[in-house]
Formats: sequence, C-alpha cells, structure tokens
Amino acid sequence: MSDFVIKAPAIPSVPVNGGGRFPVRRIFCVGKNYADHVKEMGGDPKKTPPVFFTKPADAVHTGGALIYPLATDNLHYEGEMVVALKSGGMNIPAGTAGEHIFGYAAGCDLTRRDLQAAAKSEGAPWDAAKGLDNGAVVGAITVAEDIDTLDAGILSLSVNDEIRQQADLSTMIWSVPEIINRLSQLFELKAGDLIYTGTPEGVGPLVLGDTCRIEIDGLQRVEFTVTQAA
Ligand code: MN
Repeated sequence: MSDFVIKAPAIPSVPVNGGGRFPVRRIFCVGKNYADHVKEMGGDPKKTPPVFFTKPADAVHTGGALIYPLATDNLHYEGEMVVALKSGGMNIPAGTAGEHIFGYAAGCDLTRRDLQAAAKSEGAPWDAAKGLDNGAVVGAITVAEDIDTLDAGILSLSVNDEIRQQADLSTMIWSVPEIINRLSQLFELKAGDLIYTGTPEGVGPLVLGDTCRIEIDGLQRVEFTVTQAA
C-alpha cells in the first residue's frame, strides 16, 4: 500500500517501435543548435556553449489532436530529433555517450514565441514559453540497435503537406555525443530522459486546423493537428 495522500499521477510515456512504452523521467532541450536557425532568431552562430532548457515530463504528446495552448497568439513549431536515454550519469565522456542511448524519435518543441520574446526582452526565464502543456511532441522511439548511427539524415517538418523545415542532422552545431557530454556536466542524466536536440531554420506559426508532420530518415514520422479546446 502506498502512503500517497492523493492519487499518484500517471508516468508519462512514449510508444516504442516494435512494442512497449518508454517511461519519461525528464525532458531536456538544446537551443541554438543549427547555425541558420540561430541567424533567423537574430543571434550569432559561432560555436558558443550549448543553451539548455527543460520541459515538464508530462508535456509529452505523442501525436493526433493537440489543443491550441493557453496564453499565446503565436504558437511555433520546431522540428527536432529526440534522443531517449536508457542509462545516464554525470560527466559522461562524448566517446562513451552512445552507450546510454536507448533510441531516437522525431519530435516537435512547441514554443509560445510571443511569451519567449517577452521573456528575452525582460531577461526573464523561458519556462512559460517552453514548458507549455502538450509542448513536447514526440513520435514512436526507434531503438538504437535498429539504427547504424544517427548523426546524419534529413529532418523535415511540413505544415498541411508544405515543407517548412528541412536540414541534415549532420549540420547540428553540437553533435549528440557532445550534447550528452555537456548536459551531464550540469545534471545527472538517468534512464527515461529525453533530449530534444535543437531545430533548423524555418520555424513558424501554427494555427487552428493545421496538421504538422515531422519526419527523419530511418525513424517513424509523428503528426499532430491543432484543434480548439472543447
Ligand atoms: Mn527547440
């Protein structure tokens, strides 16, 4: 018997290709990881230390209908490759980072861009801009054993079948092993962690009725449609 004084919340999870579900512990995200996106956001794409932020684990959304979020008039898509960890640690060397990877998925870092712009101008935290309900879209995870490597391949995002973002994963400023190395110097990583690896150029708004699809070579696509609250 548990001592919980209210009903314990469900553990957020993501389907795995081939069966089963991946339980989510934490969601980490990398900002500014493709030079052309850094430029479109008005930044300087020289290789500075990666920017990390987090989303709540229960922000995971695995596709289908997605209710337009509260408190924004400028919901943006950011198509991203997502890494799922089966183990972790602190100060993980880049050379052994791959041993901790369970698999990979296509995802979308949904962003309340208007709240982010306000936070940036005020020097305020990004939590409200990035930690929105259902703001971590992620498709089924393909286990790493089924993939040779995932350091190259085309990532594309379409809205209503029109391509809006397209880039090769090899153009990331920080590679997946480097991200795991850097992130594990800030946090002890553990099994169940998801890492959103950043978005290429072409971010833009979603409106009611839009269907957004993210595809990455070798992975299962994920698709969601923005709907009105009931
Ligand atoms: Mn992002």
